[in-house]
Amino acid sequence: MTEYILKARPYTNEEAKKLLASVMSPETTDWHYNTHQKGYITKRNEIEKKLKDGGKALREAANANFSEFGELKRRETFNANGALLHELFWENLGGDGNIEKATELKKKIIEDFGSIEDWKSDFRATALSAKNSGWAVLAIDKLSDGKLRNLLVDEHGHGAIWGAQPLIACDVFEHAYYHKDGPKRAAYIDNFISNLHWGRIEERYKK
Ligand code: FE
Repeated sequence: MTEYILKARPYTNEEAKKLLASVMSPETTDWHYNTHQKGYITKRNEIEKKLKDGGKALREAANANFSEFGELKRRETFNANGALLHELFWENLGGDGNIEKATELKKKIIEDFGSIEDWKSDFRATALSAKNSGWAVLAIDKLSDGKLRNLLVDEHGHGAIWGAQPLIACDVFEHAYYHKDGPKRAAYIDNFISNLHWGRIEERYKK
């Protein structure tokens, strides 16, 4: 069985405090990664072990009203998506917000959204509209029309599109910004966009 591990960020814990200072409090750079994100990974491993060990008995008791099997399956997805989006979140951050470092993606954003400003304001509105436990995700809709879309995601998966590959993920769970910005989610979103590492985002887009 695969043991999932907490993926390293492109910077150290100490560097994170400086690099992400405009986006979140120094404590949040630690809590959000070493407690929240790690929690998804620990639970995902635990769930997969339970599903495997529970075997036939667990599967035979499955039903739509309540079953341990059903709840484990439900939370398996929640934790898997949570881990993945957080990996992307940290990879996205720690830059200078200069989109000129993403030549190809910039071109594609203008093609699909009209202009960079239009993309930004749509991404911002998406991030403002997600629940207090949600995400705004820029994704490329590979299995459909190949277009870029800003997806509004509640929790870690409601609102995702099958086959769309995420490129930018903005966490708007309250744990992401409250310690620094309180209820001012819009300020956090603007700071998030200004801190994007477009070089790494471009690499991901090219892949
Ligand atoms: Fe989070």
